[in-house]
Amino acid sequence: MLPVIALVGRPNVGKSTLFNRLTKSRDALVANYAGLTRDRKYGEADIDGHKLLLIDTGGISGGEEGIDAAMAEQSMLAIEEADIVLFLVDSRAGLTPADEMIAKRLRIRSKPTLLVANKVDGVNPDIALAPFYELGIGELFPTTATHGRGVRTLMQRVVEGLPEQAVEEEAEGATGIKIGIVGRPNVGKSTLVNRLLGEDRVVVYDEPGTTRDSVYINYERDEKPYTLIDTAGIRRRKNIKESVEKFSIVKTLQAVEDANVVVLVIDAREGLVDQDMHLMGSVIQAGRALVVALNKWDGLEAEHRDYVKAELERRLRFVDFADVHFISALHGTGVGHLYESIEAAYQSATDKLSTNHLTRILQWAVSEHQPPLVHGHRIKLRYAHAGGQNPPVIVIHGNQTEQVPSHYVRYLEKTFRKALELQGTPVKIEFRTGS
Ligand code: GDP
Ligand code: GDP
Repeated sequence: MLPVIALVGRPNVGKSTLFNRLTKSRDALVANYAGLTRDRKYGEADIDGHKLLLIDTGGISGGEEGIDAAMAEQSMLAIEEADIVLFLVDSRAGLTPADEMIAKRLRIRSKPTLLVANKVDGVNPDIALAPFYELGIGELFPTTATHGRGVRTLMQRVVEGLPEQAVEEEAEGATGIKIGIVGRPNVGKSTLVNRLLGEDRVVVYDEPGTTRDSVYINYERDEKPYTLIDTAGIRRRKNIKESVEKFSIVKTLQAVEDANVVVLVIDAREGLVDQDMHLMGSVIQAGRALVVALNKWDGLEAEHRDYVKAELERRLRFVDFADVHFISALHGTGVGHLYESIEAAYQSATDKLSTNHLTRILQWAVSEHQPPLVHGHRIKLRYAHAGGQNPPVIVIHGNQTEQVPSHYVRYLEKTFRKALELQGTPVKIEFRTGS
């Protein structure tokens, strides 16, 4: 499970600055789930190969009213969902009543918390930091988020403090393709999960093991093993009519990270809304294989169907590699066919790609359409090899590769995708200069 780190503190202490610094270093899966979660921002950081999910909370200052109170409530929710809390204070401003109030709330929750004294640039740390020890949080890490000073030490400590992960996953005994069922509230995830497991050809194993809130369900279909990651937590509810559990972005993003193939469920009656697009963006940025299920297709007017199809055409151009299914989870229509796309996407995402084959495709691509000149020198792309699976990573070696423009990267992506007949998975192109 992707560990969750929440950045907490009163406004203006440097939370977003730290968040941006930590997530920018890679293709950050930064998404602002406006509306659903108010001001919380989610992003992925990579600390020495440890992937972390960061939540930047809106900020708490105490005594909030109206919308601010709601925001503070969201910050507290983020704390609930976090493995480790980074509590930021401002070294220049000194200790404030708001800091004390936040510290109190954190102590009640007894979450592992690291105190981050930010903005230590231009202060005498011996004097400026002393008052913060009164907060009783324990370890204190001085940082300058704007320049990155102290951030590495802080994050190393974060990584050390994470719960053991690898062993746990082994014990869960997940087998076969891991399918994540994700989508906004009410799109029909629970109905789909029940439908998928209720099919004649399906044998559901053990009582599902739970990891945080998503439920992992092992089953077999036509004697092939699968694991369903159920973010709706249907199997935990005693009764399907029971009120739907709180939708959690953290839960969803963790399921995306942990899945091999994500089935993104969309409500055809509502059409594509921004939250669907955000989720889709997160799946792609995580590099996961994707199958899109347009649910509630039953009983729709022809006119509405045409409208939804046109919307898909227009807005899903960036995921044109993903199969789209029009289904009714309620009636079961089209549900079985999802497996064909899931299998194909998984195959594509995990195919072994030989250096020989990749290099031949690269050479062909370059001969068809040369990389541009940079300062009078032609960018040279020499050979390619596989650098990873799910998503397939294609590593291209050459000269001046840091200058390859994004349109050319897209051209290469497209060419590889076509030549390798990849279906349902994003492809990641990486460059290395020199041999
Ligand atoms: P947030 O409201 O907690 O998210 O705070 P921001 O990240 O927006 O930062 C508030 C202000 O403090 C911005 O103007 C930042 O540039 C500045 N800031 C953030 N970190 C530092 C730091 O380490 N040193 C200094 N001098 N300024 C900082
Ligand atoms: P979740 O929040 O994404 O898990 O959504 P649920 O599975 O709880 O479904 C939300 C509502 O949509 C329920 O009232 C379902 O009966 C209904 N629903 C789900 N799938 C379909 C479908 O294919 N067609 C129609 N008409 N309704 C559906």
